Formats: sequence, structure tokens, C-alpha cells
Amino acid sequence: MTNEGCYSCRLNAADGVALPIRERIFDDGNWRVVHAISSSLPGWLCVVSRRHITTLSELSAAEAEALGPLLKRLSDALERVTGALKCYVMFFAEAPGFEHLHIHVAPRLPDCPEDRLGPKLISYLGEPEERWVSAQQMDELAIRVRKALSEMARRTD
Ligand SMILES: [Zn+2]
Repeated sequence: MTNEGCYSCRLNAADGVALPIRERIFDDGNWRVVHAISSSLPGWLCVVSRRHITTLSELSAAEAEALGPLLKRLSDALERVTGALKCYVMFFAEAPGFEHLHIHVAPRLPDCPEDRLGPKLISYLGEPEERWVSAQQMDELAIRVRKALSEMARRTD
């Protein structure tokens, strides 16, 4: 199910391996994990539903069951990769063309400035383009997050 004009649907429809790694850090068929675009905070991830839905109440049982463990693992991976104390989890999907369900998972770093704490962390999105995390840096972080996820998976096997 895709929705014309939807940014996430367009990328969901792309052939997986054609996407840069920052757009496919993880994909279990329910959720695709990506590095957030237009973020000036390295390691800001988004968990994008594979289907075009716009509210959590539309999740299938399988999507809902996969989400909790995935959020735990992503938080763990981001803490290892970025040194975050914890991760913030947010869902808004208010920007035109970005209504597709995507959940923000953002690292709360130990040296996070006072004026960025809590809900103010969102100020890291949509800053002037010269502050954005570069595509190369997003790809490097994606590789490190993916490695952390696979190391964690091995330990629990
Ligand atoms: Zn969509």
C-alpha cells in the first residue's frame, strides 16, 4: 500500500539495495530504520512503517509486537555508538508530505545543551542546511548502528 506524494512510501518502494545504507539501517518487513534527514544531531534515527499508515492505532498486531523490542535495541545501539545517556522517542508526522508514520529515536547526549533538552531537542531538525549531518556522516553512523545491532543479536543468541 503506497500513497502518492508520500516521501516515505517513495523510499519504501525503492529496491532495498539501491538505497544508501542510511536509508536501510534495519528492515524487518514491518519497520525500516533510517537516519533522519535535515537533522543537525548525528545519530537521530527514524523508524518508518513499511505500510502507509498515519497513526499508531492502525498498526497490525505484528507491527505493534515488533516495535517495542526494536525501540529497545535501537536505544541500546545508539547509546553504544553515540555515548547517549538514553534516547528520546517521538511521533508527530505533521509536515506536509511526511504524514506517513515515522517514530523519531534521538540520542540524548551527556553534553546536550540546556536549551536543547526534552522536547526542545526537536530544534535539531530543520536548522540551516550547512548544519545538517552530511550524507557521508549519516552513512558512517548507519554502519556503526547496524554493527552494534548485530553484535547485540549475537550476544542474545
Ligand atoms: Zn506513505
